[in-house]
Amino acid sequence: MEVIELKNADSDFPDLVKKFGGLNLSACYQCGTCSSDCPVSTEFFYRVRRIMRRTALGLKDKVLPEKDIWCCTTCFTCFDRCPQEVNPTDVIVALRRISAREGYTPQASRNTSANITKLGHAVPSLEDIEKKREGIGLPARPPTAASHPEAIDEIQKIVKKRGIAEIIRFNWDKMELEE
Ligand code: SF4
Ligand code: SF4
Repeated sequence: MEVIELKNADSDFPDLVKKFGGLNLSACYQCGTCSSDCPVSTEFFYRVRRIMRRTALGLKDKVLPEKDIWCCTTCFTCFDRCPQEVNPTDVIVALRRISAREGYTPQASRNTSANITKLGHAVPSLEDIEKKREGIGLPARPPTAASHPEAIDEIQKIVKKRGIAEIIRFNWDKMELEE
């Protein structure tokens, strides 16, 4: 059984989560239906009900730095099942937004964001894939940002405007992530 220490709770945290999109957090009555149907809950550490509880109690230090919130696949099963219409998926996405702004973005997500910033794609166009495409009569590169450098310029404008580079700590001079 989890022992909950409330001495470090932040009573403003639930309101912050609502501001970032987790609008119905306070409706959760801890029935556990979300956890029982969540496909990720087969992993021993992950319980969406526990994330809802800790968040509602203001235990941000138990939520924001933890890997749990990044394990959700956003499949929306909990959205469909929750009898209180809490929409736990929205709460988790809100937590990710706050967590990222506090510098906790996982390295894999930083890498993906850096690829999108540099190349317009989460996964770069690899040489062997380009050869395979040509082998079946396709252009080496798909008709996406991979073939349209001007589209990458547009993506970079969005990254700058939305402050994403600061969140993932992307160095524009070196065009790579900082440590
Ligand atoms: S199903 Fe809804 S009410 Fe039940 S624990 Fe999950 S979020 Fe809370
Ligand atoms: S949206 Fe996330 S938390 Fe909800 S059921 Fe799917 S994986 Fe689990």
